[in-house]
Formats: sequence, C-alpha cells, structure tokens
Amino acid sequence: MTKAMVIIGAGECGGRAALVLRDLGFEGPVTLVGDEPHLPYERPPLSKEAMTGEAPAIKAIASDEILAERSIRHIHSVQAVAIDRAAHVVRLSDGSALPYDKLLLATGSLPRKLPMPGLGARCVYLRTFNDAKAIHAHLRAGNRVAIVGGGFIGLELAASARKLGADVTVVEAQPRILMRGVPAEIAEIIHKQHEAEGVTILAGQGISAIADEGAEVRITLAGGLEVVADLAIIGIGAVPVTALAAEAGLAIDNGIAVDAELRTCDPDIFAAGDCCSFPLAVYGGRRVRLEAWRNAQEQGALAARNMLGAGEAHAAVPWFWSDQYGLTLQIAGLSDEGHSVVRRDLEDGAFILFHLAGDGRLVAASGIGPGNAVARDIRLAEMLIAKRAKPAPEALGSQTVKLKSLLAA
Ligand code: ADP
Repeated sequence: MTKAMVIIGAGECGGRAALVLRDLGFEGPVTLVGDEPHLPYERPPLSKEAMTGEAPAIKAIASDEILAERSIRHIHSVQAVAIDRAAHVVRLSDGSALPYDKLLLATGSLPRKLPMPGLGARCVYLRTFNDAKAIHAHLRAGNRVAIVGGGFIGLELAASARKLGADVTVVEAQPRILMRGVPAEIAEIIHKQHEAEGVTILAGQGISAIADEGAEVRITLAGGLEVVADLAIIGIGAVPVTALAAEAGLAIDNGIAVDAELRTCDPDIFAAGDCCSFPLAVYGGRRVRLEAWRNAQEQGALAARNMLGAGEAHAAVPWFWSDQYGLTLQIAGLSDEGHSVVRRDLEDGAFILFHLAGDGRLVAASGIGPGNAVARDIRLAEMLIAKRAKPAPEALGSQTVKLKSLLAA
C-alpha cells in the first residue's frame, strides 16, 4: 500500500525532507504544510545579503516548477492546528484534514520575546522574510537603530544596518557579546570590528524600561543610560515551536524530544531541525537542540531517510557560521565540551582555537578570519572531531603541521 508522508513546517528542514523523500524514490503523496505565504526559503541571508541589497529577495530552496515536477504538494499560508495520533490525521487551520502514515514536525523556532511592557510597533523581531522586509525599510542613513541582544542575529543585523548607513547601538545584557558558544578571544575581535565600523556596543547592560510611543523608542538601561532610536530590533534568542507536539501528547524536553533516529515517542512521528532536541552521539548522547542552518538541512534529510525505514542514527558534528563585515566565524562542535584550548594562527590574522576535553580528545574548533580563511581547517577539524581523534596539542598549534596529516594518523 502506498504511504502518505506529511511534513509540517516548510522551512529549510521541511523543504529539504520533502525533496529527499523524492530523491530516495518515494512515489506516494508528499505534502508540505507551511504558515508562511512563500516557497520554502533560506533563512540565513535574511540578516545578511538580503538585508543589505536594494530590496530583500527570497532565496527559494525549491521553485514552484521543482515542487510540481516532483509532485510535492505545498500548502502555504495554513497552520497545522492539531494532530490526531489515533486517526493518523493532521487538522489544518483552513478546516481541512490531512491523513498521514509518517509525519515530520519541522516547525522550527520563533524569536524569544523580550519579557517586559512598553514594546510597540517600533520594536521588532527577525524570523521571516516579511520581518526582513519590514526591517530593511528602516535601514538607511540618518535612522537610529537599537539592537537588543549581542548574539548572532543582533550582530549580523548591526553589520547590515551599518552597511546601509544607519546609526547602530547594540545592547547586550551579558558582560560581553556572543557569550553563548563563542570563546572570548573570538568575541573580542568581532567586538572591535563592530566598533571600528562605528557601532556602539553597550555590554553588561540590562534593560529597565522601554517606552515605544510616537516617533521614537526610548530604552532605559539599568545603569541609567538611555538609548533613543527610530527602530529597536530584538534578537535575544529563539524558542522551539512545540505547542502542536505537546498538545498531541508527545514528549517535550527543550524542544520536541526525539531519539537518535529523530523519532518522537510516537513511532510514526518524527521531528527535526530547530524544534527538536536529540542525543548527540559525538558527545556520548548529550541531549541538545541546535539552531543552525546545516543542522536543519542534515536533519531534514535524515528524517526523510528514516521515515522510509532506513533506521539511521544521527552522527553529524554541529557546525555553525556567521558573516559580519568581511569577517567569517566558523565553529565545529560545541566549545563548552572543552577543558583546554590550543591556538593555531593562520594567514591574514585568521586563527583557530581547538578545544580539547580532559582526556585530550578534540571536541570543538572555533575560527575567525577574513573571507574563507578558516573554512578548510575548520572542515578538517570537524572530521577530526567526528573521528574522536586525540591529536597532540603541539601539532594542533603548529603552523607547519598540516591538519590533514593528523587526520591520516
Ligand atoms: P540569536 O539567534 O537571537 O542571536 P543568541 O542566543 O545567539 O540568539 O543571542 C542572543 C543574545 O541576546 C545573547 O547574547 C543574550 O545574552 C542576549 N540577551 C538575552 N536577553 C537579553 C536582554 N533582555 N537584553 C539584552 N540582551 C539580551
């Protein structure tokens, strides 16, 4: 009997899963449901290239032609509102019902809301293409932009806003920017670059009040400073979208809890991407949730294989990148798994920090430099991490020892 595959969430992860089901020769119905009005599209450009061009443009993962050619039914502008697990049916906001044999939840994450009163129309978040368009309209010379949160979204937007000539102030509650997962040595380089480009960074500054009325927004900081802006963009992290899963009685644990094959506690329902937490094999099964483009892509593909019965466990090493001005930051693995650090200098001021566990195992590598300067070595580090290699610290630190030779060892 032909089975029906339903995917909820038409982002990177869901879109990829639909395509991979067809790549693998699945011939039954594939339905992709998304609440946005657009084709499945790439989100990383929204804070970067799409924000600095004339007008933001969608970078689609699959065109209408490809979806039609591959018989992928894309239902857009509609939300899944309930899962009837006993009947194997998903109920949609337009009143219709979709039967499934296997269901994938690729519902992603949403910006964490700033938990305080006073926010109005000049306080915005970035998640969707429509959000990006609305923000882009404000980024121009003479406009003052306040960014709340010195994480990846905030800093990428700061760089884009400067490129378009806006005055930019970043407010970060923690003592420094990029506290989450980025070593201080690398955060400092990014901090200096932003300052050199004219961004004001106020770190270690909690917000005590926001007044968003009339022509401007006033942000009062705990230390007494006041930031006045035409637009405040809030980038203080993301929360996984789990309500649909929770209401269906699926286990939630910092995201929809799945096993190594991305299966929820219901054998016919999978979850993948930003919305799920899963055991990361490379760190002994530590349960994590990753908000990263490559993870969404890889897990979408893995979920598709397992929906077809592959029984394949997740094995990838987390990988993340960010572009700000001419600098690229790349991180392979989770640096908080490390106990000690070895630095390797590369050309053009680029460098990589290797994070080693107590037993000498390489668990992460973080690098920064202009353009693609760190890309190749981070890729090799990722392979060493996957191999659970214990390279000699002297070799990692030496500019004359090729990382490739350590991989062969
Ligand atoms: P995102 O994907 O939104 O950039 P990150 O976790 O990378 O998420 O960064 C969010 C940043 O926002 C962190 O540096 C965090 O310390 C900061 N932050 C969280 N809450 C506040 C707040 N109330 N005011 C200012 N900064 C905040």
